[in-house]
Order: sequence, then structure tokens, then C-alpha cells
Amino acid sequence: RLRIVKDGYGLMQAAFVFFYWLYGNVVTWNLVLLPQYAENHLSIAVLIVYFIFSALTICSFWRAFTSSPGVTPDSVFSDSTDDWTFCEACKKSRPPKAHHCRRCGQCVPLMDHHCPWINNCVGQGNQWLFLQLIFYAAVISFLTLTFDLLFKFYFDECQSCDQASFYHRHQHGLVNVCIVMAALMLISSMGLLCTQHTNIILVST
Ligand SMILES: [Zn+2]
Ligand SMILES: [Zn+2]
Repeated sequence: RLRIVKDGYGLMQAAFVFFYWLYGNVVTWNLVLLPQYAENHLSIAVLIVYFIFSALTICSFWRAFTSSPGVTPDSVFSDSTDDWTFCEACKKSRPPKAHHCRRCGQCVPLMDHHCPWINNCVGQGNQWLFLQLIFYAAVISFLTLTFDLLFKFYFDECQSCDQASFYHRHQHGLVNVCIVMAALMLISSMGLLCTQHTNIILVST
């Protein structure tokens, strides 16, 4: 079941993430992967691996964006409610470690944080989806960074490319921006992977 949080700023931030992914793909495919493959400097296996991780990244982004972070159980169905607190906004009791998110308008069990980049809360119901997303984001940004750096410092200039095309004329500028974007994404996803693992261990103890 699709769940999309109606939060204008959050939707804008999620759209930004989508275009971030799209830019990296368009530039890396059109300027690096396809021309270098056409000139036999890259094997088809490289293109397949890149395509798979790129697709996994955007699919897991969509799933994290539309997933439910979980709903808090009803106190009437629970045996021990001594440590439960009352949520004034939802007008119902919630178990420990559940928090109310104002942007989602609900209480979230084992709430980790509200992530504006997926316009969704990260909680009991979708923490593993979030983890999956940042893992794929780390892999695809590593691959993008690697091939874009090879393009700049190692691969030969493309001979068969249309020298007059927009891509070709602006290739260095486009790839430089892509390198910065991939490096930023790699650093932040590696950081998130570390803090997420710590959070999951802390919550489960
Ligand atoms: Zn609430
Ligand atoms: Zn939220």
C-alpha cells in the first residue's frame, strides 16, 4: 500500500534526491560508460553491474519514500502498559520508544528520525528499507566516482563521439559536477550507514 506524506518541503527534498540520481546517471552513461564501451575500453559486465545498482538504488528510494514506518499498537491489546505514555496529538497511548512525528501526523514505533530526503519517518516498519537505500546509495556513488575519475585521468578521449553534441562540448564541466556530487553522496551515505547501525544496536538493547 502506497503512503505518501503530504508535506510540501519534504516532497521538494525527495524530488531533489531523484534529480540527483538522474543527473549522475545521465552524465555517467552518456559521457563515460557508453562511449568507453563503444571503444572497447569497458566490458559489458561493468555496464550491467552499474545498471543493476542504479536500478536498485532508485527502487529502494521509491520503497523508502512510500513505505509505512509502522503504526503503534493499541494499548487494549497489550499486557503491560505501565511504561506507556499518552500522545496528546493522536489522543491515544503509545509504547516506549514510540514518538509522535508532526510532519507525518502520527506516532511512530521505534522512531529513529524523520528523514526529509525520503519525506518519511524511519521507524520499526521501514528501518531495513532505509538501511538498504543508503547501502545502495553508497555503492552507486562509489561506482560513479570511480568511473568519472577514470574518465578524467585514465581513459582516452572518445574518438567516435559526436564532437559537436551538447554532452561532448560540456563533458568536463558535467563530469566535474558529477564527481563532486558522487563524493558528497558517498561520504554522507557511509556516515549514515555507521550511525544507523549504532542506532539499531542501541534500540534493540
Ligand atoms: Zn501521536
Ligand atoms: Zn515523520
